[in-house]
Amino acid sequence: MSEDIHHECGVAALYWLDKAYCRGGKASKAVKKGNVATLVPGMLLDLQNRGQLAAGLSSYNASRVQILDTFKDIGTVAEAFRMSRPDEHRGILDEYAGQAAIGHTRYATCGRDDTRYAQPFERHHGRLWKWFCFAFNGNLANYTKLRDRILAKQNYHFTLNTDTEIIMHALSYRLRGDRKANLVGVMSSLCRDFDGAYNIAFMDAMGRMFVARDPLGLRPMSVAVEGRFFGASSESVALSKLGFENIRSLKPGEMALIENGRLRFERFAPSSAPARCFFEWVYFSNVASEIDGASVYLARAGSGKLLADMEDQPLDESCIVVPVPDTAKAAGDAFAFALGMPSVEGLIRNRYVGRTFIQPDTTRKASASSKYMPLPAVLKGKRVFLVEDSIVRSTTLSSLAEELRTRGQAREIHVRVACPPIISPCFYGIDMSTLGELFAPRYKESGYNGTPSEKMLKQMASALKVDSLRYLPVKHLAACLNVTECTLCKGCVTGKYPSRAGNELMKRAVQDLAEGKSKRTYE
Ligand code: SF4
Repeated sequence: MSEDIHHECGVAALYWLDKAYCRGGKASKAVKKGNVATLVPGMLLDLQNRGQLAAGLSSYNASRVQILDTFKDIGTVAEAFRMSRPDEHRGILDEYAGQAAIGHTRYATCGRDDTRYAQPFERHHGRLWKWFCFAFNGNLANYTKLRDRILAKQNYHFTLNTDTEIIMHALSYRLRGDRKANLVGVMSSLCRDFDGAYNIAFMDAMGRMFVARDPLGLRPMSVAVEGRFFGASSESVALSKLGFENIRSLKPGEMALIENGRLRFERFAPSSAPARCFFEWVYFSNVASEIDGASVYLARAGSGKLLADMEDQPLDESCIVVPVPDTAKAAGDAFAFALGMPSVEGLIRNRYVGRTFIQPDTTRKASASSKYMPLPAVLKGKRVFLVEDSIVRSTTLSSLAEELRTRGQAREIHVRVACPPIISPCFYGIDMSTLGELFAPRYKESGYNGTPSEKMLKQMASALKVDSLRYLPVKHLAACLNVTECTLCKGCVTGKYPSRAGNELMKRAVQDLAEGKSKRTYE
């Protein structure tokens, strides 16, 4: 995607079990002396696409005074874990060695960019089962309601502006009392209060761990086990890299639970209507990942093939396909292959420009020109089919189109988008949370049914200053992804959300737009 729309977080968890769960394999042979914590920073590198603001890990080591201990810092995974300074990096790995660990890489949809917001969160307590840490991926759509409800009671105070603190409070509350809490019961109870996306990796100072996927299954969560080695990760690619072969997704409402060093899987909530975020396949997830058994790469290629089936421009020798690097490559290549056109690198991306997504809109445009270099040698005099995975705000895409025409000297620019128009915000952890910031709603006609009309497309193309524009229609989305339609969240392309809080926030987003408010709807 030419603009940086970012996802909230990535979560990882590893455990060297006391007793083998099944036969061992390549992954388990790579573990030295049962120390799995050392492997977490490497996993977080594979989840870096999900967040670059901060990273951290908590490890469990019963022979250490600090049985649970947490290291975290702001920056990319490499920055936080001092990977460019081998001695310092090795020192961190040695200090936080352990039989079990959870890790986190953060992007903020709410809260600030400082270490207090970095995860995992840890809560010290003298009682071992009340001393815990956790890492969270998602966004509670009813965060403000939960916060207001707690604050309405006497003598409560929150220090951070984030739903993670609400989760910390909710977990602590459910671990109160003199009897060790049942962790399946804790998750069952939480999900009666929580509305939205909340995948959680939890660990306590008794060495208990759970990894849970919320009942809607909005965000992905993969698990794998070989012999005594258990792993969980927001994306399957991090487990594949460790050598795991039999990787599966946790089912919505399911948790992997480790107690007394033994692993079992439990259902903590029914999931009659899962709603997996389609955007995970279209843009967010690593192209090497699989979500619920469906390959991200094949989903993107499927969208490109469908765009090719819809193509109505006359094609000739001067036509080329330029995928916007890097996430649109699979769609662009499939589009080009189906139409017999060359797919070429007409845009070179500078991967070292940095974290442009934290820049305000005024500088997004400038960042596009520093991030992409159009190549006149490839583009000059050509009719360019620019394939993009999605358009959210459009600021950078319009600037990119201008660059292709002026610096690249392209003759025509036809934009093909491997996603339907984004007409509504996301309240479940993707950073597009107000109506006003979105491009497509300005052109949406009454009675819009997910397939933009010719008139709508012409107006949008003219606003982007391109020769033509085509989007993937909503009705073809599920087939492209190879996922059952009724199990997808399509809130941002239909305006209809899979949870009560989502639909309430949508009404508020409309009201906020009418009143000219620009803050995030869920804050
Ligand atoms: S609203 Fe859109 S981006 Fe948000 S979870 Fe649903 S499909 Fe994903």
